[in-house]
Amino acid sequence: MKTVEVSAQPRMERLDLKVGYACINDCKFCVVADKRKYGEKTTQQIKQELVDSYREGRREIVFTGGECTIREDILEIVSFAKEVGYLNIQIQTNGRTFSSFDFAKKMVLAGMTEFGPALHGPTAEIHDSLTRRPGSWRQTVLGIHNVKKLGIRTLANVVITKPNYKSLPELASLFVKLKIDQFQFAFVHILGNARQYYTEVVPRVSAVAPYVKKGLDIGIKAGLRVMVEAIPFCLMKDYEKYLSEFFIPPTQVKEVGWQIDKFEETRKTQGKKKFLTCVNCKWYSLCEGPWKEYPELFGEKEFKPA
Ligand code: SF4
Repeated sequence: MKTVEVSAQPRMERLDLKVGYACINDCKFCVVADKRKYGEKTTQQIKQELVDSYREGRREIVFTGGECTIREDILEIVSFAKEVGYLNIQIQTNGRTFSSFDFAKKMVLAGMTEFGPALHGPTAEIHDSLTRRPGSWRQTVLGIHNVKKLGIRTLANVVITKPNYKSLPELASLFVKLKIDQFQFAFVHILGNARQYYTEVVPRVSAVAPYVKKGLDIGIKAGLRVMVEAIPFCLMKDYEKYLSEFFIPPTQVKEVGWQIDKFEETRKTQGKKKFLTCVNCKWYSLCEGPWKEYPELFGEKEFKPA
């Protein structure tokens, strides 16, 4: 029997700063679609939050939204984060604005140290049907190409959905071709648009697992770092060490109007769900279970204790 070596990888505590929720895509699975009504933060608010979190000891920042790069002040706030002293500045983005090499260069000069583009299909047909923006795939791929040319560490995010799960291996091959450093497959979280369109976008997690494994194999073989989020251990046999439970650092999340200081606790106690039968599972103490909305819609039969 194959043994799986797993170890938690400690990382710096992270600030996940949502600048607002506006976006130039309108993804069918967007989890924040319901939050757009809360508006955008001001430059001053963002600067204050950066200072506060730094004073509390955080040294890693992820700018996210919505799409943070469509703000007019994005270069100003990224260079402010650098000035404050953040050591790692990640931009989570749909990647489209980076299709301008000039913009990509300005972001790097401002202080971006990590690039987190979202790509949801190996072809424009799949990706654009999910983002509902024709031409978005081409821009995102060009954006990745531009940022890689500038030598910036690139960590791609993929939301696993019904229209794209069978093409995850092809998408992994595309990531290898684009020479990215890491990719992550995250099972769709059934909130916002994903809730509204769940019959179109939410696949069965047990159907998805074999394609996720094939995609991971392609990345692993090519020497990329790979990760899986929100698929429990019982469905990822022999691939357990790639689960996000081992990687996600302690995180403070600053939304528009509220914040969560220890997101890892909220995620485990309010976001994810395990089941009565889970107490018999060897992964019980490490596993967080799926996002709770999944068993609410599809039941718990697919989750069988290891
Ligand atoms: S059976 Fe429960 S504890 Fe075990 S891996 Fe599956 S969801 Fe996690």
